[in-house]
Amino acid sequence: MVRNRRFDMRANKVVDIRTRVKIGRIFCAISSIVLVSVMAVSLKGQSPDGLMGFSVEAADQQRNFERIMATVPDAERMHEYHYVMTRRPHHAGTEQNYEYALYIKDQLEEFGYKTEMFKYDILIPWAGENRISLTFPETKEIVVTEPPIKEDPDTFIEGGLPPMAAYVTPGDVSGNLVYVNYGRIQDYRLLDEMGVSLEGKIVLTRYGGSPGQMRGMKVREAAKRGAVGAIIYSDPEDDGYVRGDVYPNGTWRPWEGVQRGSYLDVPIYPGDPLTPFEPSIPGVERIPMDQAETIQKIPAHPISYGEALKLLQHIGGPVVPREWQGGLPLAYHIGPGPAEVSMHIELDYQTRPVWNVFGTIEGSVEPDRVVLAGGHRDSWVLGARDPISGAVSLLETARGIAEAVEQGFRPRRSIQFSSWGGEDFFLLGSTEYGEQFADELKKNMVVYINRESYTAGAWGTSGNHSLEKFVIETSLDAPHPSGTSLYKAWTEEQKGKALHIGALGSGSDYTVFLDHLGVPSLGPGYGSGNGVYHSLYDTLVWFQKFGDPGYKYGLAQADMVGRLMMRLANAEVLPFESTGTADAIGGYLDELAELDTEGELRESLSNISSANARFRSAAVHTNLATDALLECGQDELGTRTSVLDELNGLIMQVDRDFLDERGLPRRPWYRNQLYAPGYYTGYAAKTLPGVREAMEEQQWNIAKEQAIGVVQALVRATKTVDMAGDIARTNGCE
Ligand SMILES: [Zn+2]
Repeated sequence: MVRNRRFDMRANKVVDIRTRVKIGRIFCAISSIVLVSVMAVSLKGQSPDGLMGFSVEAADQQRNFERIMATVPDAERMHEYHYVMTRRPHHAGTEQNYEYALYIKDQLEEFGYKTEMFKYDILIPWAGENRISLTFPETKEIVVTEPPIKEDPDTFIEGGLPPMAAYVTPGDVSGNLVYVNYGRIQDYRLLDEMGVSLEGKIVLTRYGGSPGQMRGMKVREAAKRGAVGAIIYSDPEDDGYVRGDVYPNGTWRPWEGVQRGSYLDVPIYPGDPLTPFEPSIPGVERIPMDQAETIQKIPAHPISYGEALKLLQHIGGPVVPREWQGGLPLAYHIGPGPAEVSMHIELDYQTRPVWNVFGTIEGSVEPDRVVLAGGHRDSWVLGARDPISGAVSLLETARGIAEAVEQGFRPRRSIQFSSWGGEDFFLLGSTEYGEQFADELKKNMVVYINRESYTAGAWGTSGNHSLEKFVIETSLDAPHPSGTSLYKAWTEEQKGKALHIGALGSGSDYTVFLDHLGVPSLGPGYGSGNGVYHSLYDTLVWFQKFGDPGYKYGLAQADMVGRLMMRLANAEVLPFESTGTADAIGGYLDELAELDTEGELRESLSNISSANARFRSAAVHTNLATDALLECGQDELGTRTSVLDELNGLIMQVDRDFLDERGLPRRPWYRNQLYAPGYYTGYAAKTLPGVREAMEEQQWNIAKEQAIGVVQALVRATKTVDMAGDIARTNGCE
């Protein structure tokens, strides 16, 4: 019998399926796994014979269909879509955004997809008259717009949103300036320690900061400390000439560039601020705007670093700590004052339409189960990179899969593509959709793959760790623009270290699926730093010069995403491995142990660790059982539809077992006990978030309570994994 071989990511080798190599982790001690044999096969860029979740015969057919898909993506087609969808600004709520929705719908129909559109009516602010003035020690208007540049004719296209901070409270405020660095919780806490009061002040804060800091949190924490307004700018150290040449000579942000953005309090809940937990459809009750927790309580506005310099010049007080110094040519000071500014911020809040588009190819065996890949369509101005680059690459994936279907590919499960509206205002279209169809999606969505903006650059994937091995295995067959396999290039980028996927926090449309509904999600793609994010300069001219000239990376990405989708849709047994989840949890527990300096959580962490060890052990045995089942071969498995149906249902359930309907402390909308955006970061993930965040705040009782929830989740998941293993064993062929 031909034995399935699998890719072992830690050994970076293909190994016999009977081999499981355990990497030691303090909290993850498994002694029961016997190393049977190691049959390591050197990769040398070759793919293994087997595919996770496929019988040997089915794997061969699958690869043939993938080869057909792979012949389709075409740079000229990408350019055509890209050109069409970057001729007019198309922010959420505009007619043009609707026109592009129809355009994508037409394309999908032409490829052979059955299409649908869904509309939501959502509270969206557009910019009104905004002014910022320096009023002391001299009077100066601060420029709050971006000029077009003659080297890029697209920047002369009118009608885009000017720089603005969405979902803040408009108004007139004035006060002394205080420089607060990145406006992270640790920055504010340092100011608290230094005795710098923000009461009645206006903060000047820079974008970015590590860990990934969503802009809204900068304003929320300033307001909590009594600040009356916030001005946010992109510092050249993070996003400007310190990084390299600025646009149009290079990719970095020019002196006049401004980052627009949503300031919605996303860690509380994303989507329409007036309809938490509910879809924004007719008949659903809206809460009054002043009760919407996710709208920031003070006015805010973004500016360029060129303008920020005019403000920093007049901030006195102590010199900043070394890490707070940015890249502008002066020593930064904290203040407060003597610089005094006034802000006049108008926002036109209206209920505006947001459209999602879907295209579906129905599955042949488990049609209710859906593998969905989506990305957003709305932008701030022209959005050639964010998000249209992603949309054009994804359209070519859709066309490639349609061609495989044309030539006989009949995926077991349904394949679906979506184009979301209103992501930039913060995940509006996807969140409302997820809330509307929560029950159905919880039951039936196999995986959500998020694919928006990309550029040439390094490969990265974040997502559920049950999919880690699957993603790495798939990269063996996917091409990289350099001519090698994606796997090889990815390994080189990692300097030979074992490949891993990261954890998803928030910042794009996977949030509702992963964090609210427990649907396993992936965010795979190419990317690199750039200076046009959310600006007038994110144009097709920029993209073709600095984004991805010739669409080489867009083509490679279309291929990889196509393979991921085709395998997830067609595997006889879904290629999830809970050992990946258990190993990730083991690593998180190590991190939590380091936070537990007083030993307060020792017992709780040890309980999680024991539960995790049982979970891992169950997963190892179930993996062996499902592999044995696959050895029945394609014909035999073809007669066992109901067995596979039940087995796959259980496999899908495991990640969902980590959902706690009560939600996280402070934010019940977030229910995933493994992954969440940090309460203070907004973008960057917190893993085991309930326990970790309580520990970080030294709220030991809450942390202990949350740890009990994690243990219960692990017990549920272990039971599910065991049930899957039983089904596989009783129906195996050996
Ligand atoms: Zn985007």
